Amino acid sequence: QSKELGRNTYQIYDESMRRKSEQLFFLERDLRKAILKSEFIAHFQPRVNALTGETISAEALIRWEHPVMGLISPGDFIPLAEETGLIIPLGKWMKRKVCEQLVAWRKAGIPLIPISVNISSQRFLQKGFAKDLQNLLDEFQLEGKWLEIEITENSIMKNEEYILQTLRDLKELGVKIYIDDFGTGYSSFNYLKTFNIDGIKIDRSFIQNISSKSENASITTAMIKMAQHLKMDVIAEGVETKEELMYLLEQNCYHIQGYYFGKPCSIEEFEAQFLFQKS
Ligand code: C2E
Ligand code: MG
Ligand code: MG
Ligand code: MG
Repeated sequence: QSKELGRNTYQIYDESMRRKSEQLFFLERDLRKAILKSEFIAHFQPRVNALTGETISAEALIRWEHPVMGLISPGDFIPLAEETGLIIPLGKWMKRKVCEQLVAWRKAGIPLIPISVNISSQRFLQKGFAKDLQNLLDEFQLEGKWLEIEITENSIMKNEEYILQTLRDLKELGVKIYIDDFGTGYSSFNYLKTFNIDGIKIDRSFIQNISSKSENASITTAMIKMAQHLKMDVIAEGVETKEELMYLLEQNCYHIQGYYFGKPCSIEEFEAQFLFQKS
């Protein structure tokens, strides 16, 4: 009997594996088509200075408008895009999209705010990343200060000369660099003194229930202190409640991104809700 059970278990596993790889196959096929047809949209999420209520910048977050499945969130296709290398054209699409939007605002006489874009480590670690970004900014006649990039710790884990050079080139361009999901990677903090990082984004997992969960509170407080000593900006990500906000304000961390101030939304909604505000 146990033998039969074992075989059944194996078959179930096998069947679900087969279905999963079939789904991935179709998703990859669709993703390739979607890139050709630009079936993507950028949502913007505000970052607010909680002391003044001002929107200081925004993060651009990709969504896929699938013709049959509807809006797909990045968590459901970015991993596949990374695996298949399709993250490269996706990233290219997003950077252009953001530049186009900034130019549209400038033409309309709307004061610009920096927009930040997530850069996959695959792209960041390609040689010529900074040069390509410079070409893009030149094409749109945009100053580097309007584009910010978010990289994860694994992008700068290796202390290689060309990565240092990329970071220097970005600095030269005026493009600010943030470490995304800070605290969740495996790298040491050593890179913080080697590389000239402008700021960190404290991951949502540390912010959640910060006022009642003392481990989160001590880790977050330490991260904020460290960043302040190193003269880096700190953005707290995933702030949802008043309690979380209050705790962060007590630690002098007031650059906030999270549902408390606004979810990622369409650019039209973003303009209406966060750009045209009393200043
Ligand atoms: P991320 O860069 O860490 O972006 C923050 C994620 O947290 C976003 O999820 C955002 O919607 C979510 N978030 C923000 N505030 C809150 C909050 O208060 N509560 C909760 N529950 N969630 C909050 P999203 O848009 O699903 O993006 C997921 C991840 O996909 C991003 O994480 C980023 O790693 C990746 N991603 C998104 N767009 C791009 C892109 O254009 N290129 C690349 N390479 N990756 C992207
Ligand atoms: Mg990000
Ligand atoms: Mg993050
Ligand atoms: Mg991330």
